[in-house]
Amino acid sequence: MHIYPDAKAVVRDLAPDEPVILNRPHAALRAARFFIEKFPGKPLYAVKANPTPDLIQTLWSAGITHYDVASIAEVRLVRGLLPEAVLCFMHPVKTPSAIREAYFQHGVKTFSLDSVEELAKIVDACRNPETGEPATDLRLAVRLRVSSEFSELSLASKFGCDLIEAPQLLQQARQHCDWLGVCFHVGSQAMTPFAFVQALDRTRAAIAEASVVIDMIDVGGGFPSSYPGLEPPPLEDYFAMIARHFEALPIAYNAELWCEPGRALCAEYSSMIVKVEKRRGEELYINDGAYGALYDAAHVDWRFPVVALEDDLRDAAQDFAFYGPTCDDADYMQGPFALPGDIQAGDYVEIGMLGAYGTAMKTGFNGFGNAAQVLVADEPMMSLYRGDRVRPDADNVVSLR
Ligand SMILES: *Cc1c(COP(=O)(O)O)cnc(C)c1O
Repeated sequence: MHIYPDAKAVVRDLAPDEPVILNRPHAALRAARFFIEKFPGKPLYAVKANPTPDLIQTLWSAGITHYDVASIAEVRLVRGLLPEAVLCFMHPVKTPSAIREAYFQHGVKTFSLDSVEELAKIVDACRNPETGEPATDLRLAVRLRVSSEFSELSLASKFGCDLIEAPQLLQQARQHCDWLGVCFHVGSQAMTPFAFVQALDRTRAAIAEASVVIDMIDVGGGFPSSYPGLEPPPLEDYFAMIARHFEALPIAYNAELWCEPGRALCAEYSSMIVKVEKRRGEELYINDGAYGALYDAAHVDWRFPVVALEDDLRDAAQDFAFYGPTCDDADYMQGPFALPGDIQAGDYVEIGMLGAYGTAMKTGFNGFGNAAQVLVADEPMMSLYRGDRVRPDADNVVSLR
């Protein structure tokens, strides 16, 4: 497949009327190598952040062997691409048919749960269909509810059992498996390593109360990436803090430490070229939006980095808001996005850091949603992995070219 040097080369070649997604395998490879070398345990890739097959193959080639899957479609997808990968079904509410297919057809042994009902469901679904004997090779992970107070996107209210119920659930789960873990998720884009400290403190309390042997601690996702106005401390600080608090847990001497990064492994993988269809004052009508890869820009006012792709724009940067292409008023992204003041209809803009929960969110609503995908060789607009993070006070025109 042809590899373009950068977004400008794509515009010169294609002059695209629809958005184009630019993928950077080298950026995903670097992120994966970083986690494999520096995280003091095993990193699983959380597939929902970006299920693009090329990305999954790239992560596998970088050495990511374990995958956090949350639906039977994700199980089938990853198993189809990677026959030898270890798949862990980490959605705490599953249908029996999904559990059965995952276990019997795709070799999935690891399942998470946050209630006795789910425990019973997993045990039943994995019984030998002829003899009714329970499975002896289940690996179960009890999901604890922890605080999302340090994260930009909460995952605290939907899943996870309360600390009060956790000891009993751990004891019950222990009776159905030889390998028992505890997992949690501190919320996405955790802006301080202390997010993991509070979660590991709760984990310690639950394990101490239960007094069962724990074979694995899975600290989940939440590892941040870098965005304008959201520049986290170095990931090494997170890893060091997690390692220290993991060491202090009352668990088996050979217990494993896992994590499930989604965002941190793939945020830098993709950017997108959009075209300005119309300008109305400080509002730009572009051809992707709330129902496309800019879901978070519309729904939680995420400010992705932007750069104008025309060489003849001369004016100083000013702040713009974006309208997406659908006929819905909610298809609006307030930004602000700083672009040259003389930008106009027909010009192209590259929007960066869309590899996680960006391109994965695209829908076909209103007939918009097509986007070609191409490979580019240049650097992502921002990076946590090359040691040149932009100053926290810098604005969101990040020119690295
Ligand atoms: C979404 C999710 C992840 C990935 O979270 P990030 O914040 O993208 O790292 C990991 N584990 C589970 C169970 C999830 O639901």
